[in-house]
Amino acid sequence: MILGNQRDQSMPIIEVKDLAKKYPLPENKSEFFYAVDGISLSIEAGEIFGILGPNGAGKTTTLEMLEGLTDIDGGSAFIDGIDVAAEPYRVKEIIGVQLQANEYFDNVTLNELLTLFAALYEREVDTKNLLSKVNLLDKAQAKPDHLSGGQKQRFSIACALVNSPKVLFLDEPTTGLDPQAKHNLWDLVRELNNAGMTIVLTTHNMEEAESLCERIAIMDHGKLVAEDTPQNLILKHAPEPPKAPLHGNIEDVFLALTGHGLRD
Ligand code: ADP
Repeated sequence: MILGNQRDQSMPIIEVKDLAKKYPLPENKSEFFYAVDGISLSIEAGEIFGILGPNGAGKTTTLEMLEGLTDIDGGSAFIDGIDVAAEPYRVKEIIGVQLQANEYFDNVTLNELLTLFAALYEREVDTKNLLSKVNLLDKAQAKPDHLSGGQKQRFSIACALVNSPKVLFLDEPTTGLDPQAKHNLWDLVRELNNAGMTIVLTTHNMEEAESLCERIAIMDHGKLVAEDTPQNLILKHAPEPPKAPLHGNIEDVFLALTGHGLRD
């Protein structure tokens, strides 16, 4: 069930404590390193929460643990009060996970794929409604191969919505998209959020984190280095702007260099 507009701000929908994941070291498989090194997070229902960090920071691994796709090696994660490690299947009922578009079957239409995904959850979906939500109604009979990058990403979100999730996880949803497709996807994320859905996304795009997310956790080398609203992070950590702001414009530069204005 989507929460509608009833946002319960009093109780976190995601509670993560000292979460850890270790992988064998690539150069010496008998030793391990922590890809996720004891992170704690609390995400409120109705938030758009961003995990920002460079490649290899541990963002995807964190998401995969929350989604029940990767075993948890340390700490705990609860989604809507359900222990992810103990009851991964109950968690899967209430979350939406965006698959990468190239994992879809050939020769099946978008309409058929949505029906198929819904059947996996033993549900029936209004495919027209879902496709119109992601602005792809006119592509109902198209095959995924024939979609643009932005359309594929929006379709992958439609697939993640077949079980009307409370929490939607998006792993780098706009990577590789052109600016227009990126903005369309942000609009979709905002619409879903306005309807009450909690959204957790990873990104290495600063602009995306700043303009879309209500709160951001910054991750590096498996650890959280900061977590707050974009405004507070800037206030706390961004260096002071230069005391004297720049004034003038390129026309002034031209005037100074040539002794006459651009239109003289
Ligand atoms: P991010 O999503 O921030 O780019 P990842 O979570 O994908 O980072 O990866 C974190 C670290 O864990 C990286 O060093 C990566 O190479 C390593 N890693 C990820 N998945 C595996 C795996 N299945 N086996 C071994 N190492 C992995």
